[in-house]
Amino acid sequence: MPSIADLAMRPGEEDEDRLDRSRLMAWLNLDAISSCRCLVVGAGALGNEVVKGLVLSGFLDITLVDMDHVVMSNLNRCVLLRPEDAGNSRAKAPAVAERANRLVGRDAVHPMVTRVEEFDGWNSMDLVLGCLDNIGARLHVNARCCLAGIPYVDGGTDGMRGKVQVIVDEGPCLQCTTNRSHYAVLERRYSCTGSATTLYRPHMAAEITTTSVVAAVQVREALKLVSGMQIACIRHVMYYDGMAGTCEILEASINPGCPNHYTCSPSH
Ligand SMILES: [Zn+2]
Repeated sequence: MPSIADLAMRPGEEDEDRLDRSRLMAWLNLDAISSCRCLVVGAGALGNEVVKGLVLSGFLDITLVDMDHVVMSNLNRCVLLRPEDAGNSRAKAPAVAERANRLVGRDAVHPMVTRVEEFDGWNSMDLVLGCLDNIGARLHVNARCCLAGIPYVDGGTDGMRGKVQVIVDEGPCLQCTTNRSHYAVLERRYSCTGSATTLYRPHMAAEITTTSVVAAVQVREALKLVSGMQIACIRHVMYYDGMAGTCEILEASINPGCPNHYTCSPSH
């Protein structure tokens, strides 16, 4: 039988456990988090921050999809990219994966350099986080998640403003909350060629503080979802205004004309 001395933790021993302070948050299910098959779509600004937050939180099975290459103008808001990545025109996904894996000393992030429209592993995912800068790709991910019945945490930024939406099968999806101005952008994006090859590429204002806030909220919602705390998730759409210093939840509802709900929930 072990003695009291054997059972007692030596001073400082808990500091040897990388997730010791996370374990003190009773609602976190670290076993579920470590085994969650998580897809991150986009390895740009939001993708960098989201992947950083996921690996530090204990996610160990992350697939990261992005087709772009690093350029210097990415570097004002991408913590895991380096000037030499831009110099070498390195693909974003493997660069982010390499640095994130080094952060935690584990092979936690698996990069795929491909268009999200060509990704076909939806049914083997437990959770998807969207870190995309265009509404067309976001609607594609939204539709695939609805079809496969996977929770989708969508994030977006525009200068000092940002939004996060948690899409689960009984609630409104991204397409339900997409308005006419989004579709106008979509039409302009595709109008030049009539195909996915785009001539319209807006350069939107972007900096690290709004990116950090939005990505942190995305990761926190992911932690709630995986830990069985869906009841505590953002129920509608969270809007953040960094200039005003405000954050508000705006109510959204299922659009009866949205095709996604016929596939993900026949009762709607
Ligand atoms: Zn919908």
